[in-house]
Amino acid sequence: MTPALTAAADIDLRPLTTADRVLIGLDFDGVLAPLQDDPATSRMLDGSAGAIAELSRIPGTRVALVSGRDAATLRQLADPPPGVWVVGSHGAEVDFGPEGDVVSPIGGDSVAGAEVGAPDTAGPAPAAVQDPPMLTSSEQAMLKAIDSHIDAFEHTMPEHSDMEIRVEHKPFARTVHTRGLDQRFASDLHEHVVQVQNEHPGIRVIEGHDIVELSVKRATKGDGMHILVEAFSPTTTVYLGDDVTDEDAFAQLETVPGSICIKVGSAPTRANLRIADPEAVAELLQRLAADRRRQQG
Ligand SMILES: [Mg+2]
Repeated sequence: MTPALTAAADIDLRPLTTADRVLIGLDFDGVLAPLQDDPATSRMLDGSAGAIAELSRIPGTRVALVSGRDAATLRQLADPPPGVWVVGSHGAEVDFGPEGDVVSPIGGDSVAGAEVGAPDTAGPAPAAVQDPPMLTSSEQAMLKAIDSHIDAFEHTMPEHSDMEIRVEHKPFARTVHTRGLDQRFASDLHEHVVQVQNEHPGIRVIEGHDIVELSVKRATKGDGMHILVEAFSPTTTVYLGDDVTDEDAFAQLETVPGSICIKVGSAPTRANLRIADPEAVAELLQRLAADRRRQQG
């Protein structure tokens, strides 16, 4: 049964404000930051940024940003306070911050010594650049095939040569953005992009809001949340997401007692609660921060 839209003010937050240990998983685009034609310009709403800063200072409270973006880009865009964990590349990167390592749940590789986006408050050392991610030789070959395949589109569609194709380069994937493009052009581009999977079945196609992503890793946001739950041992977990890939996180949390899943926006979902948009998320997080501060202060 698909959940009806609920006003942020009407969501019962008591299980989250009273829990001994609460884990708050938050998708970034479309949840904390309104969707943008150019993904490089996405910014968190001030209300959500303030609430996350407050939540991250409350004992027994852990905030995690969970995104399809790579972990380093996500830290740069979101600029989260110390203590906020980051899951990037749809779960292929789990980053416990400057004092932890970046781990890749697929293949079990640890990127030794990687320091990602050390916040300004962490000390005098400048933010380190993340070490190159671990890719197997077959994954490298698939990534190369993806790049040539996307490049080939311009040659197959000469009549569209004036349209700009926006491709986001991620450590484990390429994301083609179709938001704002002419509809016919966007659908031709989409059709071309997904065909690479015919020759390389190992490539994972991830569909999202006006994006199609070709990934060489199989991790999901559900895998990422599983690692966070194991690491933090929360008594209650809440997850907010707006896109198809967030459904993997919702599915994972169905196996974790005391979990609350909240869909943002109108798309079909397996979550049991739904709120409207990033503004509603900001309102919800601000109330959660204030109420939990009163309870746990
Ligand atoms: Mg999203």
